Amino acid sequence: MGKVYLVGAGPGAPDLLTLRAAEILKRADIVFHDALVHRQTLSLAGRARKILVGKRSGRRSTAQAFINKRLIDAAGSCGVVVRLKGGDPTLFGRAQEEVDALRKAGVDFEIIPGVTAATAAAAELGMSLTRRGIARHVVFVTPRTAEGERENDWAASVLAADTAVIYMGAGLAEAISTELINRGKPKDTPLVLVESATLPERCVLHGTLADLPKLARRSGSGPATVLLGEVLKAALADSPVVSIPEIQAHLRRA
Ligand code: SAH
Repeated sequence: MGKVYLVGAGPGAPDLLTLRAAEILKRADIVFHDALVHRQTLSLAGRARKILVGKRSGRRSTAQAFINKRLIDAAGSCGVVVRLKGGDPTLFGRAQEEVDALRKAGVDFEIIPGVTAATAAAAELGMSLTRRGIARHVVFVTPRTAEGERENDWAASVLAADTAVIYMGAGLAEAISTELINRGKPKDTPLVLVESATLPERCVLHGTLADLPKLARRSGSGPATVLLGEVLKAALADSPVVSIPEIQAHLRRA
């Protein structure tokens, strides 16, 4: 019986991978990977069969139950099975469903953490998500729910937090901005949208909570994370981010 490794591939740049992850990839017999994993990261798994199972939002993905089954089947015939996920596997990556299925089937597994989009975006901005006296409370949320999933009050967490990082939110920009403002978050809360953090095509757009729909319309089709909170104002004032988002977005549309 083989072992399944749930491996974090990091946010994009192939050198933001842990050494442990690189070692496992080298030994992998089979790799089931998400759509956003960099080709250079995949090439570390030189001897492995590579199978794309992830999706970009809005497109069809391999059903989760089927992925679970394939991981279990692969563990029956291969030594080292890798499930390679963008960012960190334990954040918004459905890792728990895979872990539950592997446990139930008696398959040995291990999780290898990765750099998540929130910390990659903060690094991109040259700022800290926490800051003495301003931000001691950070939340990672997503307003996106899968079909049949119970609603979650993501907005309550954002309202309570000093700094909020919103995953999978760019497509819901209008709803996010309206909901938060209606529930009392100041319109002028500093906000940054970071698209394709750590990749050459990265795009950084900044404004306020009220500007979010406009910023989202200007952004491209890469994965985007929204950060908001007072800490962003301080960080942007300390070291203004030089961005040419309008030009980049224009080039992408052209
Ligand atoms: N497990 C991943 C998150 C998967 S959900 C992690 O830990 O990062 C996918 C969402 O992650 C995207 O919608 C976007 O909000 C965020 N994301 C992933 N890669 C990103 C990147 N390079 N730049 C900005 N946001 C990114």
